[in-house]
Amino acid sequence: MDELPDGIRRVTLPLPTRPGHVHAYLLPGEDGWTIVDSGLGLPDAAERWRAELAGIEGPVARIVITHFHPDHVGAAADLAALTGAPVSQGRVDYEQCALVWGGEDWSDVLVEWFRRHGVPPAATDELVEQGSGYRPFVRFQPDPDRLEPGDQLDGWDVVGAPGHADGQLMLLRDGVLLAADHLLDRISPTVGLWPNSRPDPLGDYLGALEAAIELGPTLALPGHGDPLTNPVGRARELLAHHRDRLAATASALGDEPRSGYEVSFPLFGDDLKPSARRFAVAETLSHLERLVREGGARRDETVGGVAYTAAQ
Ligand SMILES: [Zn+2]
Repeated sequence: MDELPDGIRRVTLPLPTRPGHVHAYLLPGEDGWTIVDSGLGLPDAAERWRAELAGIEGPVARIVITHFHPDHVGAAADLAALTGAPVSQGRVDYEQCALVWGGEDWSDVLVEWFRRHGVPPAATDELVEQGSGYRPFVRFQPDPDRLEPGDQLDGWDVVGAPGHADGQLMLLRDGVLLAADHLLDRISPTVGLWPNSRPDPLGDYLGALEAAIELGPTLALPGHGDPLTNPVGRARELLAHHRDRLAATASALGDEPRSGYEVSFPLFGDDLKPSARRFAVAETLSHLERLVREGGARRDETVGGVAYTAAQ
């Protein structure tokens, strides 16, 4: 456990895949600690948390989940059982959490969706299997307390940060931003279009970057990597990065309709493992959909699927 400014503690938990770790944070408060995020529900997650919590004094008052990705929500139920503390999660985020991790047929939804975006049948199964591999490691807390952007939580402002996940939430107090995966140092957070997600996640993300700049935090504590001492500068870099990626996406289009899968090759290269291709396709689609809205691309939906051409 690491000590950070304002009495905040950081717990770094292992991940079997890149970036190899995820951070949870403990915020001191009047009525006890607020734990932000739970890590992945690996088999030893509860033991690990028990050991970490042995190092703090005072009760855990609540657990806040920033977003439903497996490395953030996976051990939420373990942590709730261990501490007896209630779990809070965004309303929109919990809906997606229950859909993706609680539903029976999510892989079928993904297979159909990738197929419509041009992924060949042989590759589709591989892409989808890679995602369902996380399922055994997600134990979310059913029916948590629901949060909304604008809420207050023990002196912290709850701030919406859609894009990386539709319902992602951050916490802000006195210039310190618990940034979840909205702002990361060195890594560009993935912003993908997924089935049942909002229609323009990159537009959401760019808007949320502008909003983060407006808030003017002086320190951001992210879900992965080092604290950001210049979060506003980092938000500007990410805006510029996506402007470049939008330009590259536009130049990968022509008169011939191309699927999101096809466009992902010039953007991300030919040589990707299925797990990486899965994110490459989703990220390509978020850029294509933004381009459609900015007048830089045209979407054609046919019975066979969805394809994009350069706007005339
Ligand atoms: Zn995430």
